Amino acid sequence: MKEREPVLYSACLLGIGCAHDGRHRAHRLPPGLPGDSVRAVPVCPEQLGGLPTPRAPAEIVGGSGRDVLSGEARVVSRRGADVSRAFLRGAAETIRWANAAGCTRAVMAPGSPSCGPRWHYDGSFSGRRAEGPGVTVAALEAAGIAVRGPEEEREAAGKKDCR
Ligand code: SF4
Repeated sequence: MKEREPVLYSACLLGIGCAHDGRHRAHRLPPGLPGDSVRAVPVCPEQLGGLPTPRAPAEIVGGSGRDVLSGEARVVSRRGADVSRAFLRGAAETIRWANAAGCTRAVMAPGSPSCGPRWHYDGSFSGRRAEGPGVTVAALEAAGIAVRGPEEEREAAGKKDCR
């Protein structure tokens, strides 16, 4: 039997109730994913960083996840607490988790200040978006682990099927 490829997945996309409201986000995963050739490895960076579930929602203030890694931006909860340290710890633990499981790529949940691959909310808690990855995605990419959102993954899987 062919070995399945280990791919890191945001745990909430796989039906695990780890989001800030204690719910999952499986409805954001398109049909057909993760796919038969993939062994999905679930991870929740915010839980790995030591944050509770449920927890106050948080947003990046002053930049993207890359700027949080370099200390130029912060992650702040809606209650006003600076949770940057927990997010950085979660990002570092996620890289260890990915390496231990042999993952060289990841599929992460859009819009999250940890997992968002391309955008996140802008820190105003008003629903406005800002470009750039979440903290964990920025760390994964810096560590050489490629990250896609669910829709990008679905498109890539479709192209593979057509070959
Ligand atoms: S940190 Fe990532 S895996 Fe955890 S709830 Fe948020 S988006 Fe989902």
